[in-house]
Amino acid sequence: MLQKKPVNPPRHIYPIEPWRIVEKQFYPRFLSQSETIFSTANGYLGMRGCFEEGTPVSENGTFINGFYESWKINYPEIAYGFSKTGQTMVNVTDSKIIKLYVDDEPFFLPDANLGGYKRVLDMKAGTLDREIVWEMPSGKRVAIKSRRLVSFEHRHLAAISYEVTLLNDDAPMTISSEMRNDPPQQFSGDDPRLGRGFQGRVLMPRVHYRKKQRVVLGHATDASQMTLACGIEHLLETDCSYSTETKAEENLGKVVFSVAAQAGKPIRLTKYMAYHTSAHIPADELCASVERTLDRAAANGFQDLLDSQRQYLEDFWRRSDVQIEGHADRKHRAPETQQAIRFNLLQILQASARAGNTGIPAKGLTGQAYDGHYFWDSEVYVLPFLAYTNPRLARNQLDFRYSILDQARLRARELHEQGAKFPWRTINGEEASAFYAAGTAQFHINADIAYALHKYVEVSGDEEFLHDKGVELLVETARLWYSHGFFSEQKGGKFCIHGVTGPDEYTTVVDNNTYTNLMAQNNLHCAAVRAEELRDRDPERFDVLAERIGLHHQEIKDWRRAAEEMYIPYEEDLGINPQDDNFLDKQVWDFKNTPRDLYPLLLHFHPLEIYRRQVIKQADVVLALCLLGQKFSRDQKRLNFEYYDPLTTGDSSLSVGIQSILAAEIGYMDKALAYAHYSVLMDLGNVEGNVKDGCHIASMGASWMVLVNGFGGMRDFDGVLSFHPRLPESIKKLRFHLTFRGQFLEVTVEQEKATYLLKEGTGLSINHQDKEIKLTPGKAVTAKNMPE
Ligand code: BGC
Repeated sequence: MLQKKPVNPPRHIYPIEPWRIVEKQFYPRFLSQSETIFSTANGYLGMRGCFEEGTPVSENGTFINGFYESWKINYPEIAYGFSKTGQTMVNVTDSKIIKLYVDDEPFFLPDANLGGYKRVLDMKAGTLDREIVWEMPSGKRVAIKSRRLVSFEHRHLAAISYEVTLLNDDAPMTISSEMRNDPPQQFSGDDPRLGRGFQGRVLMPRVHYRKKQRVVLGHATDASQMTLACGIEHLLETDCSYSTETKAEENLGKVVFSVAAQAGKPIRLTKYMAYHTSAHIPADELCASVERTLDRAAANGFQDLLDSQRQYLEDFWRRSDVQIEGHADRKHRAPETQQAIRFNLLQILQASARAGNTGIPAKGLTGQAYDGHYFWDSEVYVLPFLAYTNPRLARNQLDFRYSILDQARLRARELHEQGAKFPWRTINGEEASAFYAAGTAQFHINADIAYALHKYVEVSGDEEFLHDKGVELLVETARLWYSHGFFSEQKGGKFCIHGVTGPDEYTTVVDNNTYTNLMAQNNLHCAAVRAEELRDRDPERFDVLAERIGLHHQEIKDWRRAAEEMYIPYEEDLGINPQDDNFLDKQVWDFKNTPRDLYPLLLHFHPLEIYRRQVIKQADVVLALCLLGQKFSRDQKRLNFEYYDPLTTGDSSLSVGIQSILAAEIGYMDKALAYAHYSVLMDLGNVEGNVKDGCHIASMGASWMVLVNGFGGMRDFDGVLSFHPRLPESIKKLRFHLTFRGQFLEVTVEQEKATYLLKEGTGLSINHQDKEIKLTPGKAVTAKNMPE
């Protein structure tokens, strides 16, 4: 049971359409949430879905992945090893402003009489479109059509086409295209999940200039010393006469078009916006890059951007789309699920596509919450989707982790550990968590990275990455476990891991967190296997690595022994794995007397009230049962699920998806379906009530897993692709696509059968309900779903 959820399944306010999110009216009360939902981004640059006019606005936001300001963390009581410097993704120059005046009257949405309003996020075109008819008190009618995109193809570029037509009369018209540098920075107040915010100006002016219809501004941050250049360029197309005025100031750029607008003659403004950022190049040098990006964009034109955007998405959907069909004669929610899963997948792409050598922030580039930090979210929740659909993007994530390995090594030394200790949350590679109990103590992030890496290699077959960077990552993460843990006499010589926090942040700094121990065991084992494999296959390369990182054969033996002897908590009478050594001794939280409005508990109870009780923020043991399911019998999974599910609040959006997958596996289909709805609709349905702060990217990744691993029953233990399809009755057909070792597979699951079609590749062996099927390209194979 989800303790806090309303009984009714989540719904959302957007009409159900397979490929679009449509807002048919201007809803002031949903302003902040729509700003998130209508965000456009490409993984490097992101713009919240705020209106071009600049107002009304709730949380205006333009973000560059990895562009942060740092600040000193002030602890009233400091202790050794606490992280010293915070990092916050900066809300950067807002370049998308286009203000419109007709007869010198400003177009201001809340006051305007609207003869039509429609805003559309088009998931095939990758554009945010708006069509409005403004009926002025004078009787003049003005049609405004805009289309915005952040280009997937051109990493540094965004563009807007803004077309205004006077429908029934002439009038003087002013279109003021602006770029401003006074963006507000989100402030956390009492909600620790929000960004920290800054007081005062964060971006310091370095350079500003104008050229014809172009303005370029260069800025830098004070403490992190990062630089940013942003430029806008324009093309006005109209048969009406007009004049232009261009202005550049330190924090403001403006190109004002004054048009003698005539009825029926469209005035089309194309605005190109370019951003370049750096940690070491001066702002004026970046301005030159901005100019090059703008030159190229202006030369190729807007249509070219639209075409490349559509093409990019065509390719994405071909590899990644999930299709759902429901029974026509049943009350079902398949069309809603269909729309929402596509929205989720698009948002994942928008968070990762052009991220380059940065991570994936918890909210993507849709909000400043969580300070734009990278957590384990990317490895455990997002990477599975990427590895199976866009392996290059999965690899980029792992490359990013490799790029911060040296900092992780230093952090391990600081904590008097061997190997590398990855930060719980970070942008620049340093630990940025100021609350160690639910932050730094989550050592499991090391094992999560190792798990994701190993999965990526198994799924993609990318041995080059494994040997180039992967083995080193596995070695350094394994070293940490061996140095942190110990063989405990108290536990019969077993290898124990003490003083860590598992995924459940409502129970912190514990001994032998089952999830952590299992994942560490996997980490140690994989490191040993892969290091030995490299030694056997490519001794020279192994020797170079061993020499560089001081790797000895004895270490590999030690890891094997620690993995074999890993202590995994088990309670015989209940037949379950206690979440940690003391979890079962605690008093169970008084759920009955906790009203719904006191969730999430973290906002209403002191940690000490929460930590001493059996109450779970998010799937912990249950997550381990999903990720390492091969180690547990179905009965063990059922008993654990039955024990932990009633204790799980789902106060983190990372929970329901995992609960759904395990529920499906053990045959609790009603529960699996209910949780699936929460997971898939987490953002469109605003399940947690905080979509305004940004999308829940991890939960979006989990929603893909719900459909593929939960209902599709896909598992990939030990590199073997297997399926145990389990469709809820309300779904007639589920289709998804997987790229496995370069081969492209389409899986169609129906109630009675599953059909596997190898669309590209040379041949693939898979298992359907434990029976092997050999697939050859182009030949669909159908297998019956036998009752389990
Ligand atoms: C969850 C973490 C997660 C973070 C960012 C927290 O609420 O407990 O597991 O990494 O959000 O999404």
